[in-house]
Amino acid sequence: MKPDTLPTLDERVELAIKDPFLKRSLAVAQERFRMNKANAAEVLGNIEEWRERAEAIRTHTVAHLDAYLDQFSTNVEKNGGKVFFAESDEEVVQYILDLAKAKNAKTVIKAKSMVSEEIHLNHRLAEIGVEAIESDLGEYIIQLAGETPSHIIVPAIHKNRKQVAELFSRVSGEQMPEDTKELTRYARTVLRDKFQNADIGLSGCNFAVAETGSVVLVSNEGNARLSTSIPKTHVVLMGMERIVPGWEELDSVLSLLPRSATGQKVTSYVTALTGPRKSDDVDGPEELHVVIVDNGRSNALGTEYQKILNCIRCGACLNVCPVYRHIGGHAYGSVYPGPIGAVLTPILKGFESWEKLPYLSSLCGACTDACPVRIPLHDYLLELRKDEVEEKRTHPVERAIFKGFGTAMANPWMYRTGLKLAKYGLKPLSKDGYIRKGPSLLGKWTKARDLPAPPMESFREWWDREGKGESAGSPGGASGGASGGTSRGRSQNKPKGDGSDGV
Ligand code: SF4
Repeated sequence: MKPDTLPTLDERVELAIKDPFLKRSLAVAQERFRMNKANAAEVLGNIEEWRERAEAIRTHTVAHLDAYLDQFSTNVEKNGGKVFFAESDEEVVQYILDLAKAKNAKTVIKAKSMVSEEIHLNHRLAEIGVEAIESDLGEYIIQLAGETPSHIIVPAIHKNRKQVAELFSRVSGEQMPEDTKELTRYARTVLRDKFQNADIGLSGCNFAVAETGSVVLVSNEGNARLSTSIPKTHVVLMGMERIVPGWEELDSVLSLLPRSATGQKVTSYVTALTGPRKSDDVDGPEELHVVIVDNGRSNALGTEYQKILNCIRCGACLNVCPVYRHIGGHAYGSVYPGPIGAVLTPILKGFESWEKLPYLSSLCGACTDACPVRIPLHDYLLELRKDEVEEKRTHPVERAIFKGFGTAMANPWMYRTGLKLAKYGLKPLSKDGYIRKGPSLLGKWTKARDLPAPPMESFREWWDREGKGESAGSPGGASGGASGGTSRGRSQNKPKGDGSDGV
């Protein structure tokens, strides 16, 4: 969905916060991932050494992206595959639509591909009468529900068993039990038939190995294997940064992926696709197309944000983010939610429509600590906010407020006058030292928390009254003032020069 067809960010967040189920299911999932991850870390040993190595590999690869992409595409072609470089989403879509028409395709069976979500491929295929069927269980669920993924590795994280049973019952016309095995069995039965009859298979690409021109797919359900081996034509949609130099480097990043993603020690299936089927192969596609997608990624190249291309899409930053925990993925409005999405989306899609995403962060730094390739996510979030201000992309009213604030803070007379105005202006709204319901812009703050009312006696007034520090008593008026209680502040002050502090 494009941002202009979505509710506003505030509305999306509001909707998410009001959904008690969402919060509960995200908290449970995050906790489960956290515990699994701790167990999986034991297998790897010194995790910091692994992270350091993975960061070095990804940073080196992205720095030499042109050379590795060249090597990779040459090798794909040597293996008999076709390579298409797509600069924009429209170019990718057009290539696939043309291919579908050329193959007279009616159905496309898909393994998980975030790039296809990014370019809204299913809708575009539907427009020319081609049915795209998601075969990853989570993706299948949200496709039936008419939704978008809310997590990059667990797309249906926001749904529970009961909701899935209701959904499958509605679709199948049978009453489905709330039993995960039964629900999975149903999906498997439906999908098996789709695999066998699909005209085209389509998948994403977890990693592309430059030295052999291989595409590596990681899955837990084996659906990637079926979609790459049964249909006669297979299309790989690959973000241009998903490359590693060779198998040795792949080993390092691949070891970190499942551990960081779901806390698994090892993933269930790793599938490598090196060219189309050879004469002595037992299965595999007869035609292999690799579409290498830029779609805004090169906006990060050569900038301070280049390291965002190091991302291996593990979802670990989502799994630890306190903001994501409360609002889930749909509130971000982007196919990439959480800290990675808050940084990546404005870079990919432009700041005009997505510049508020970097504010969906507490800047606690948990994302940076969790990232297996050590992307400085919370620094990037802060930098993006800074860019917004420096490039004057903020609202003119906001700019005027901060300009006025800056001028007042730099001018003692204006500062004191401002404090006085605030003190008397906000007095009618204050009760017991707090403002609990503010008007207009202030209302947004007080909706979520109380605002300490300005003290009736400022620190400077207290200081003047107390004799400019001749007393060693603590400025109780100031601390009392911070919580807004004039009488409380005064009662805590020591009388001038009483000497009772023993100094
Ligand atoms: S930014 Fe790091 S933690 Fe987040 S998805 Fe990418 S690799 Fe994983």
